[in-house]
Amino acid sequence: MNPSLPTYEDVVQASQRLEGIAHRTPVTTSSSLDARLGALVFFKCENFQRIGAFKFRGGYNALASLDSEQRKAGVVAFSSGNHAQAVALAARMLDIKATIVMPHDAPAAKKAATRGYGAQVVEYDRYKQNREEIAHGLVQAQGLTLIPPFNHPDVIAGQGTAVKELLEETGGLDMLFVPLGGGGLLSGSLLAAHAISPDCAVYGVEPEAGNDGWKSFHKGEIVGIDTPVSIADGALTQALGSLTFPIIRQHAHDIVTVSDQQLVQAMRFFAERMKMVVEPTGCLGAAAALSEIVPVKGKRIGVLLSGGNVDLAAYSAYLTAA
Ligand SMILES: *Cc1c(COP(=O)(O)O)cnc(C)c1O
Repeated sequence: MNPSLPTYEDVVQASQRLEGIAHRTPVTTSSSLDARLGALVFFKCENFQRIGAFKFRGGYNALASLDSEQRKAGVVAFSSGNHAQAVALAARMLDIKATIVMPHDAPAAKKAATRGYGAQVVEYDRYKQNREEIAHGLVQAQGLTLIPPFNHPDVIAGQGTAVKELLEETGGLDMLFVPLGGGGLLSGSLLAAHAISPDCAVYGVEPEAGNDGWKSFHKGEIVGIDTPVSIADGALTQALGSLTFPIIRQHAHDIVTVSDQQLVQAMRFFAERMKMVVEPTGCLGAAAALSEIVPVKGKRIGVLLSGGNVDLAAYSAYLTAA
């Protein structure tokens, strides 16, 4: 056992830190979907979380765990997505200086949102510069603490609090579908599910093009891939982490993949039937259940909707494309 791996105790501590700070997001159902599948499906709506995604949980938990010297020096993260906004907002709430390293061609709206939370944005050229080197340079020069997006015990523990809340509300489940990128969300969810509903079969769901998790799970070691091409832009990681992989290997039931087409179908279902905006990556778990990637009939099923941040022009194109 790796002693630095987080445990369910860490998830419990994270949920105490997040109490009254993160939203306790709603759990929703659709009777027409249940009738179609012959199952009971519970959606945990992290698209309604602060910053519009579960990443606020892990980001806040990691920052709240820093000692006073680390807080005084500040933090740095590299991300153009939800992790950047999670760290920026958590830092503002905890009065910590945050620096976010973002590609200069990141969507202007994302840069503006990150600056809007009070973070300093350092831009780089994604074709010429390495963001990790830039971030490590800031760590060296300014004594900042790097907050990674998934491979960090406090981040994993924080992400696990969403499934803890879900299971407290629904009671035991037969299956649970969780989006999978670098595995922070899945490994945290596994710690919670294993403790609260040990018979629940937990599936990680990846985009078909980015199936490094599936490969790693079945090979029994971390397998890296080239940056995949998928509309699930929050799950384009090239490899699982040294902390997330062992937890996934130990507790996941399986890893499955869905196509971009199946993600679009899920997005449309949420818009049309449930009146919810869910981003493509946020639909990974739902697409597996809705497309019956594994047999779901007769089961009590949890689905983690991980986020709702999607560019409106892209979103309307997804909804209206033939
Ligand atoms: C980051 C992210 C994921 C993937 O989470 P990991 O912890 O990297 O596996 C899934 N959905 C959304 C909306 C995200 O922002």
